[in-house]
Amino acid sequence: MLAQRTTMLKGSGTAAARAAAKEAAAAGIQVVDLTAGEIWTDLAPTIRDGAIAAIDKGINRYTDTIGIQELREALARKVTEETGQACGAGEIAVTTGAKQALFNIAMVLLNPGDEVIIPTPYWTTFPAQVQIAGGVPVHVDTRANGFVPRIEDVAAAVTPRSRAIVVNTPNNPTGTVYHAALLRALGELAIEHDLWIIFDECYGDFIHTDIGHHSIVSTIPEVRSRTVIVNAFSKTLALTGWRIGYLAGPEPLVSAVKALQSHTTSNPNVIAQHAALHHLETTEGTFEAGLQRQLAAARNMGLQVLSGLSRIPTPAAMGGFYFYLDIRNLVAPDPCNLVIGDRDVDTLVRELIAKAGVAAVPGTAFGDPFGIRLSYGVPSDVLQDGLVRLVEFLNAWSYGASPRAENEERVLS
Ligand code: PLP
Repeated sequence: MLAQRTTMLKGSGTAAARAAAKEAAAAGIQVVDLTAGEIWTDLAPTIRDGAIAAIDKGINRYTDTIGIQELREALARKVTEETGQACGAGEIAVTTGAKQALFNIAMVLLNPGDEVIIPTPYWTTFPAQVQIAGGVPVHVDTRANGFVPRIEDVAAAVTPRSRAIVVNTPNNPTGTVYHAALLRALGELAIEHDLWIIFDECYGDFIHTDIGHHSIVSTIPEVRSRTVIVNAFSKTLALTGWRIGYLAGPEPLVSAVKALQSHTTSNPNVIAQHAALHHLETTEGTFEAGLQRQLAAARNMGLQVLSGLSRIPTPAAMGGFYFYLDIRNLVAPDPCNLVIGDRDVDTLVRELIAKAGVAAVPGTAFGDPFGIRLSYGVPSDVLQDGLVRLVEFLNAWSYGASPRAENEERVLS
């Protein structure tokens, strides 16, 4: 018999989609995999040099639990620059990817039954971590407002049990970027109701709109004492496998994170820490700029292909590297009937792999029954091939054309 908490561990929906792509490939289907939450590129030279130098020096020991002091200082300088608010090394914890930063935050902030407001569609791990920590995710649907939360909807979700709001901009999966005015309003709401803000800006370097990326702390400095910034090198430097991220928050929170992390993973990988430090000390921004150009070109090309979709709006894709398709018209074409028909997005995505050889992540992984996420962090020829196939498939796809098997599981809204 396993512990009760395992009943809420469903496994990551994005990992499941990646596994489905691999399975189809193993079955002989030529699959274009657009599921990945990472960017295809070479290793950043600064990271390579920093890591090799650390290995050559024979570095092999534990470090301080929440990161070597020089790295924490360098990250504090970065956060200071990005927020316009002086941040010290005592406010930084280095973690094994942003995922551990978020998990640490849930564990040190939440008491059993505490509620965390999470706009939907959401990155699949946010609610899972809240639940593991004993909290209750409270979802605020953003679909009616172009995937941007309405402040009145967030306010309506606040209860006496509310403890925090997750603010993820640029957003995974929707690619939405929040305006400074919205960030300010969310900050005011947090102050009014004494809430924490968990500010995830992992995609902050990839902006494809004039709105720009704003740290909530710079739009409303008064929230600083109740905000934890979460970031990583995973997306910014295409370094997902190196597992290096960080959080920036008030010192008492960082101390609690340090105590927690000392009993879980201890320090993040020491070579990755030295590589990140070397990068921060020496980068001239060339690699980052190249990555941004690569994604901007992929986005432009992708949007051009996607403009051929006959019944689906072209996605805004304002930030990050995902196209989020709103397939509401396809799977629930009757505007008066909000019940999803026999053919839902999971079925559609399965058919997309089986018949068109394109792997994508269904919106159900993000709490949305009407979306499909496509990554454009792949090589451009792969992207073009995949999107052309996808457009052809979706334009021909017809609601109700392929009834589900008697015993097939149904997912209702
Ligand atoms: N936050 C968001 C919004 C993400 O999309 C991801 C990864 O996909 C993470 C955090 C986790 O990043 P990491 O790989 O650094 O743990």
